[in-house]
Amino acid sequence: MRPIDYDAGPVPPEDVVPFRDPDTGIAGTIVLHSTALGPAAGGCRLWRYASDEHATADALRLAEGMTLKNALAGLPLGGGKAVLRDPGVPFDRAALFRAFGRAVEALRGRYVTAEDVGTGVEDMVRVAETSRHVAGLPPRAGRPGGNPSGWTALGVATAMRVAVRRRLGAELSDVTVAVQGLGHVGFALCELLHAAGAKLIVAEPRSDVAARAAVRFGAQLMSSQALLAAKADVLAPCALGGVLDFVRVAQLQVKLVCGAANNQLFSERQAEQLADRGILYAPDFLVNAGGIINVAAEYLGWDAAEVRRRVEDIGARLDDTLYRADRAGVLPHQAARMEALDRIAGHARPLASAA
Ligand code: NAD
Repeated sequence: MRPIDYDAGPVPPEDVVPFRDPDTGIAGTIVLHSTALGPAAGGCRLWRYASDEHATADALRLAEGMTLKNALAGLPLGGGKAVLRDPGVPFDRAALFRAFGRAVEALRGRYVTAEDVGTGVEDMVRVAETSRHVAGLPPRAGRPGGNPSGWTALGVATAMRVAVRRRLGAELSDVTVAVQGLGHVGFALCELLHAAGAKLIVAEPRSDVAARAAVRFGAQLMSSQALLAAKADVLAPCALGGVLDFVRVAQLQVKLVCGAANNQLFSERQAEQLADRGILYAPDFLVNAGGIINVAAEYLGWDAAEVRRRVEDIGARLDDTLYRADRAGVLPHQAARMEALDRIAGHARPLASAA
């Protein structure tokens, strides 16, 4: 196995743009990580952060992930992200997102926004009042749009089917999947896995949603902590990032990890730790691209059939990455990252042939 170059560090962003809404006082950051392949695309997160520095650090990490994700998915888009600091007290939401839209518009199409954790279709409708560079709006007459989570879930399920075959020589109907987080993506993923015959263990702090999963899917309920150490075949992290730290990886009892959450690894070192434990890690930025494919389709004017074709292609892309990782003696995570950076540098297949 080729060692990971930890010193290489993250790829620096092209631009970091501070944001402050004069009406609500809410601050945030827009990161344009890369525009090499097209406008920097990535959602707008509204979250409680301890400080502006924490918010900016999260935006930087998420934006870099979007650069890799969009390149790997063969999209004509760069990577970006916006984060806004949720003040934890009531505020004028419509005013905030109109102000945010003005900041997006001022970037003249270098950044395209959409919903993310803590934001939704209604917020993007407000952004659209002041900017053209927004997706995730209500779908019109069969065109892509709206909340993209169903597509993200489909991409993860498609990738999981491939990973289960490669790592376990089994089908989804043979395995138990532990799903952490039953939000927009996690619940939709459970629907798909249940339909495919998988057994489910789930963790979700909203007890009504957890109870619904127990009734609908016959899912076993656990606390989040117990779920991460549960005996299962697959772990699907679908809550927030950073969940796979040193201690938790040491406790895992699964054979593979394949889920929707962005930045699942606490640090790059956990990719190696997982491999040392014989756990196959399906790179998050490869398998969770379904949502951004739908966002890209909405912004670029593709139809729903094109979205489905590209999302279903995520399985084949993972298969190809796992094959190349094996051949090159690198981790899947590294192989996926290298492929994305190659595409950005223009050394890989032209995007037209990847489409
Ligand atoms: P969401 O906010 O709808 O769902 C997150 C869920 O996780 C919520 O139900 C929440 O109660 C639950 N949760 C929070 N802490 C938890 C914990 N400790 N244990 C178990 N559950 C916990 O978000 P989402 O849109 O479903 O996205 C989930 C993840 O996937 C996020 O990391 C997001 O960045 C990533 N992602 C989402 C999309 C998309 O299309 N929505 C696309 C790519 C990546």
